[in-house]
Amino acid sequence: MDTIQHLINGQMVAGTSGQTKPVFNPATGEQTREVALASVEDVDLAVQTSQKAYEEWRHVSIARRTKLMYAFRNLVEANVDEIARRLTAEHGKVLSDSAGEVARGLENIEFACGMAEALKGSISENASTGVDVQTVRRPLGVVAGITPFNFPAMIPLWTIPNAIAAGNGFILKPSERDPSTPMFIAELFHEAGFPDGLLNVVNGDKVAVDALLEHDLVKAISFVGSTPIAKYIYSTAAENGKRVQALGGAKNHMVVLPDADIDLAADAAVSAGYGSAGERCMAISVIVAVGDSADPLIEAIRQRTDNLVIGDGTDAASEMGPLITAEHRDRVAGYIEAGAADGADVVVDGRTRQFEGDGFFLGVSLLDNVTTDMSVYTDEIFGPVLSVVRVDTFAEAIDMIEKNQWGNGTAVFTRDGGAARRFQEEVEAGMVGINVPVPVPVGYHSFGGWNDSFFGDTTMYGPEGMRFYTRPKVTTTRWPDPATSTVDLGFPTNQ
Ligand code: NAD
Repeated sequence: MDTIQHLINGQMVAGTSGQTKPVFNPATGEQTREVALASVEDVDLAVQTSQKAYEEWRHVSIARRTKLMYAFRNLVEANVDEIARRLTAEHGKVLSDSAGEVARGLENIEFACGMAEALKGSISENASTGVDVQTVRRPLGVVAGITPFNFPAMIPLWTIPNAIAAGNGFILKPSERDPSTPMFIAELFHEAGFPDGLLNVVNGDKVAVDALLEHDLVKAISFVGSTPIAKYIYSTAAENGKRVQALGGAKNHMVVLPDADIDLAADAAVSAGYGSAGERCMAISVIVAVGDSADPLIEAIRQRTDNLVIGDGTDAASEMGPLITAEHRDRVAGYIEAGAADGADVVVDGRTRQFEGDGFFLGVSLLDNVTTDMSVYTDEIFGPVLSVVRVDTFAEAIDMIEKNQWGNGTAVFTRDGGAARRFQEEVEAGMVGINVPVPVPVGYHSFGGWNDSFFGDTTMYGPEGMRFYTRPKVTTTRWPDPATSTVDLGFPTNQ
């Protein structure tokens, strides 16, 4: 069995724990590889070598750093198809989705290529007579990224480029469920010419995560994953004196007003609810149908589900692939059962779709007349299940979103500018779409939700991300009085 190891100081190393976990191809259900689980000692070695690399890297010129970042960008772009192939083989999403996530990751490398602008400091001249004050942003040291299974290319790229551009060393602890893609990206990073040890990858589980959270030389933690783990990371990292940004789970609502273009809204609901099998933190999970939009919208979505092609992500005809594991597939299916038992109407039941082979497939589901006390509403399902909650007014929709535990993304579908603007102003979420179902910000803005979707104060990537990986240093300089200068300055100096 092929073992995915750790990348430490430019070398693949087996690690010392002797522990591994299986890695599957979700489309076939077969174990294809295994992944080594790092010990505390493996993590320490990774951190020590990254610290050594950082101590030199922070002195490397911006010109040189930029050149290397461009080389990395070009290598990732040249390898989009190969990254997508590896990604689909372990995650299961269709190849076009995999390539799409690499494209979103590239945006973050491109933002980091502009580091000369993003890292510029500021100066106040003559703050007092002959006194100048300047602020520069310095790196933190070694920083770590702990990432989820659902975007194994994009999410590591939310963090690595900015952290490295700013002069830090980086340790990545990717999801143990699909570790080949982030490892391949780290190999491309080395191929681009960055020094050994600057980016190390340790594979593993809680043992590796805890070792990072407790290591004195790790100065900041960037986490993306489920809410319970995000809370744990936030509190533990903070207790250990680290800077932390911890992005959690989500339950994203899409509000459809009676004046909306129903076809546009139904297309959006299908792609945002069922795309990547609903395993996206920005997936639409709840449709809030206002007034008489409900019946035509539900019918339009139902019709579209009939034609949805679900199959192996490597098949160009497939529009949706399998779920990540058999256990997760069964857990998602359990919510359809629970929704029906709670009194929701199961308009489309994904459990009735038949699939050949042992892949972790599940059909898509649509539940109507869901209420906010049902588990299909209160829990993050993270699968291809859309719940429709019917309300009478716009105000009820806003209120429902405000009362929900999370606040990652949300969207409104309407043709009314006033309603859209009101929604943008009032709604309780960090990322808002107006006729855009999945409003993931472009790489030169920043990404982060509100409430239980985000713990910390500096969101991820873009300008906020660059800020997270730097700390200000302010220097106050008193210049000698020009009158005392021994050089003839050629103009009056008594002012
Ligand atoms: P997860 O929380 O299970 O795992 C995330 C990371 O934490 C992995 O690297 C994992 O190894 C590690 N981890 C898991 N259990 C741990 C523990 N007990 N102690 C320490 N570390 C632990 O998440 P997942 O299942 O990989 O990803 C799906 C979740 O991530 C969903 O909840 C989804 O909404 C969320 N997510 C959020 C965003 C966002 O931007 N807010 C983006 C993507 C995914």
